[in-house]
Amino acid sequence: MRILITGGAGFIGSHLAQACLERGDEVYVLDDLSTGSAENLAPMQKDPGLCDRLFFTKGSILDRETLLELVGTCDQVFHLAAAVGVRYILDNPLESIRINIQGTDAVLSQCARFRKKVLITSSSEVYGKHLHAPLKETDDIVYGPTGKFRWSYAASKLVDEFTALAYHRNRGLEVITARLFNTVGPRQTGAYGMVIPRLVQQALKNEPLTVYGTGAQTRTFTYVKDVVRALLSLMDHPDAVGGTFNVGGTEEVSILELAQRIIKATGSSSEIRLIPYEEAFPEDFEDMQRRVPDISRIRELTGYVPKTGLDEILAEVIAYMRQAG
Ligand code: UDP
Repeated sequence: MRILITGGAGFIGSHLAQACLERGDEVYVLDDLSTGSAENLAPMQKDPGLCDRLFFTKGSILDRETLLELVGTCDQVFHLAAAVGVRYILDNPLESIRINIQGTDAVLSQCARFRKKVLITSSSEVYGKHLHAPLKETDDIVYGPTGKFRWSYAASKLVDEFTALAYHRNRGLEVITARLFNTVGPRQTGAYGMVIPRLVQQALKNEPLTVYGTGAQTRTFTYVKDVVRALLSLMDHPDAVGGTFNVGGTEEVSILELAQRIIKATGSSSEIRLIPYEEAFPEDFEDMQRRVPDISRIRELTGYVPKTGLDEILAEVIAYMRQAG
């Protein structure tokens, strides 16, 4: 099978590329290296059993000619290229909206033209601000005002989802939507705000761990290899087509408790510093207080359940960051 992965040099994309290569696929990666990194593909490029089936193109999904050629070449498409990370979105609002909405439309339109099956990655952000848990794919969504720019990301991902469904209805495109919740593991960078790499890095340097707000806000965290397994299980299941699926973890943890567990797991002498949101972010920020998925839809269809617990995930990330230095 020939697989195109847009955003394949990113954190999740590179793990997906590796899994596809390991099962024998030819993998075509399209990435503009805006938040991804060529380094993420290096382990596969150095592996003699994998390197001759990995093809990397540095380019944008907004470049029509490149996209046309790659979609035409491949049998299936995983669309992961997007502006990601709260910090990145707040710093680059216009670019983020453009790449997420126009870029996804470009990918879907070529997939429809060549009749290629495609999986798009959406985000738990689309749920907006809910306090109840767990979140189901059928839940209503509630956003803050346009003055709070965080919601532009949620809105752009929601437009992506509607666009995918519209291509499915109007053009018969075989498309699957995966709503990814917080995903962690080796190769994730803290540069765009993601909490686990940031706190682990701080703990390893014995610097204060920056917990925003009171730290009572909660998340679940899924190991990247579990997420990859979920994406492959959806792509391979005929009944997933036209569907939207939560992909996330089940162990809810507050950010304060997460910081405590990171200090313990690293043996760090760091203290925890509570940083008011106004200090950490511009005024137009609003955090989500709780975010836990209901994963029964994907579990019932494909049998997928996350296997890696939070302590194991932290151990992996800590080992990776120690080695990376
Ligand atoms: N967070 C934090 N300290 C940090 C980075 C993030 O307390 O240095 C918090 C953030 O406010 C949020 C949670 O950790 O409540 C998860 O943040 P992240 O940016 O990783 O993902 P999000 O779930 O917000 O998309």
